[in-house]
Amino acid sequence: MARYTGAVCRLCRKEGTKLFLKGERCFKDSCAIEKRNFPPGQHGTARRGKVVGYGLQLREKQKLKRMFGLLELQFKNYFAKAEKMKGVTGENLLLLLERRLDNIVHRLGFGSSMSNARQAILHGHIRVNGKKVDIPSYLVTGGDSITLDEKYLKNVHVQNALESARGKGGLLPWLEMNWETMSGKVLAMPKREDIKYPVSEHLIVELYSKV
Ligand code: SF4
Repeated sequence: MARYTGAVCRLCRKEGTKLFLKGERCFKDSCAIEKRNFPPGQHGTARRGKVVGYGLQLREKQKLKRMFGLLELQFKNYFAKAEKMKGVTGENLLLLLERRLDNIVHRLGFGSSMSNARQAILHGHIRVNGKKVDIPSYLVTGGDSITLDEKYLKNVHVQNALESARGKGGLLPWLEMNWETMSGKVLAMPKREDIKYPVSEHLIVELYSKV
């Protein structure tokens, strides 16, 4: 599957907010949003215009899509799936994305960023309930245990990512990490109130309802 391979900090600058795509650097002063919070490109330093209506809906969709490193078609497929589910479409969309294996691997600290987590999965280092799963879009369910293969666990980058995650603490209430055995667990399905990043999902629903 094709993927965006450009400079990810440009995406944050375009959206005017931190999308946390670069792991540790996102928490340092060297973050591009801390230093140059204006859109990338030749006219980037011009004042950000007030975005309303369609523009606002589009930006909200782009923000969420970029946070999860998805392409347009993949994102649309998630929306179609969310629409078919019982309940509120916007919430369903967020909860589906939240359950992706790459997101869980990142949140547990096995990968310093979403792209690191995705790479670990694609390279076959992740086990779900003891079995290798190499599909980043795999949807976890309550009770699933997530572990790394032993060799990869010794990798210095993984150790650093785990140390950093441990230092930050504050794992989401639906996830649990056993620091002794270095295994993560999905305690339950996520709820809307568990999702803290600022996304107005109703704007995304409004956008797609026009199509
Ligand atoms: Fe975004 Fe992280 Fe780059 Fe900052 S360092 S601009 S949060 S990707």
